[in-house]
Amino acid sequence: MQDDLGQHKGYEYARTGNPTRTAMEQCLAELEGARYALGFASGMAAIATTMYLLKQGDHVVAGDDAYGGTYRLFTRVLSQYGLEFTFTDLTDLQKTKAALRPNTRMIWLETPTNPLLKIFDIAGIARLAAQMPTRPIVVVDNTFASPYLQQPLALGADLVVHSTTKYIGGHSDVIGGAVIMNDEELHRRLKFLQNAAGAVPGPHDAWLTLRGMKTLALRMDQHGRNALAVARFLEDHPQVTRVIYPGLESHPQHELAQKQMRNFGGMVSFEVQGGAEAARAVVTHTRLFALAESLGGVESLIEMPAAMTHLSVQGSPLEVPAGLIRLSVGIEDEQDLIEDLAMALAR
Ligand code: PLP
Repeated sequence: MQDDLGQHKGYEYARTGNPTRTAMEQCLAELEGARYALGFASGMAAIATTMYLLKQGDHVVAGDDAYGGTYRLFTRVLSQYGLEFTFTDLTDLQKTKAALRPNTRMIWLETPTNPLLKIFDIAGIARLAAQMPTRPIVVVDNTFASPYLQQPLALGADLVVHSTTKYIGGHSDVIGGAVIMNDEELHRRLKFLQNAAGAVPGPHDAWLTLRGMKTLALRMDQHGRNALAVARFLEDHPQVTRVIYPGLESHPQHELAQKQMRNFGGMVSFEVQGGAEAARAVVTHTRLFALAESLGGVESLIEMPAAMTHLSVQGSPLEVPAGLIRLSVGIEDEQDLIEDLAMALAR
């Protein structure tokens, strides 16, 4: 009810704002150490709305490893609206610099990336963007780290994007997204776009997300402990040919991860002898690790990105190895998880 024409009590229409969404947005902003957060119906809704900041003819430099859905949105949808994309290895700042053009308006990165767990230097990339006369916006998809492990705005990024479906929600029972920022003008534009495009979360989803956030720190600590133990076990296993985990000394950006992250998170990728066929036998024989898409929940999941989450990058420069296995290591007992993998690898 409004007191008078145009005089509402803070909430006039539930797409524009809702008290439970406001509570969630305030909590998300505080977790990222930011001034503003905006909630969305999914991670993809948050990403799509962020891209409305751009216009025809604008160019985006993006990392050469990313969630398949992001790549699909960029190359199969937004490219039809006159946006141009260059995917490059952002671990190399020279290459990143070389990819920038006079019409580059955005640098888009995930770190750690999905599914190859590359670590990009957020502060270095932000410094590069700041030197450009066109000052491209630096956007970090912080889904894999969560704000407990990494705060990109403090490292110089302009926008943080989350699929809150993952670690922030934490229980695989809600789909959501968020965009988080300090800049007042970006907030004004994105709040307008949030309402204008309307991809907002319902209050019940906002409430579930808020409930998940209360245990974020506890969960992330346990995910990290378990993932490191699992990664070390895999590294020593004779059938495993490659383990990718930023917490291992063998990870090419291990030092950078130590610098910009509190801990290394719950995602581990690996390959086994025998390629895709052998990998398929592993992912279909675990009992605790459930064969499933998604990640970041309390329960452990296993999948093969090339055939599942990253089908949309098949045949593209972002194609992932056919036999790659991705684990979302949950918060169960460490020894149970290791025994489950040992059993599946022994088959
Ligand atoms: N960003 C990353 C890194 C993801 O892994 C995902 C989904 O897996 C998304 C964005 C998209 O989020 P949602 O599934 O909530 O739309």
